[in-house]
Amino acid sequence: MRGTLIDDVVFEADIAQLVRKLHVRPGGAHIAELERLVAEAEGVAHPTAFCRVAFVGAGSVDTVEIAGVTLTSRVLRVNLDQVFRVFPYVATCGTELEDWSNSPGDLLRSYWSDGIREVALAVATRKMREHMVEVHGLGRTATMAPGSIGDWPLRQQRPLFEILGDTEATLGVRLTDSCLMLPTKSVSGIVFPTEKRFESCQLCPRDVCPGRRAPYDRDLYDRRYRASD
Ligand code: SF4
Repeated sequence: MRGTLIDDVVFEADIAQLVRKLHVRPGGAHIAELERLVAEAEGVAHPTAFCRVAFVGAGSVDTVEIAGVTLTSRVLRVNLDQVFRVFPYVATCGTELEDWSNSPGDLLRSYWSDGIREVALAVATRKMREHMVEVHGLGRTATMAPGSIGDWPLRQQRPLFEILGDTEATLGVRLTDSCLMLPTKSVSGIVFPTEKRFESCQLCPRDVCPGRRAPYDRDLYDRRYRASD
């Protein structure tokens, strides 16, 4: 295993945060049921993350080599122009919580368990970020993930997971034939140091997205990424 497994993540859900996230009426009849479900989840949850240091090698106009593996994305290639060291990662809510959420129940339980797993994933991701800052001294960074923009499609999960190694053995995350991750509440990508702000959302024209982190900039691709003839 070339990298660091972060498996000392303590999952203690913030009930007030979950109440807001899941639109449960404070003081309402559902609160006790939500608290019971959260206690159950905390008893089984084992969110984890894995990240490694990898070095950037040669590239072409729209490819870049990382740890000897070729990734195809013009945007990633340009973003890594001045970068020699990157941090591929995967984080997950964990197979235990995934199995727990598949136990029989009504629609409300299913919706709430989805939200609980998202919080567990966020805790694992935060812990991994702290590790990167503490151990590798990372300052300002940006992140790219396969599938977030058309330029770096979801099928590029394959080479990313090749860089990450046997993630199923390490932390129970695997790719389906269509390159989705299981457990479903998992995230993967590459963190890289940068002085320029970059969010995939800046290149994503999607109209309605609750996860948007930056406004769409319709000229950004031409300004920063378009290859000259
Ligand atoms: S706007 Fe939404 S869909 Fe588009 S890159 Fe950002 S988070 Fe993803």
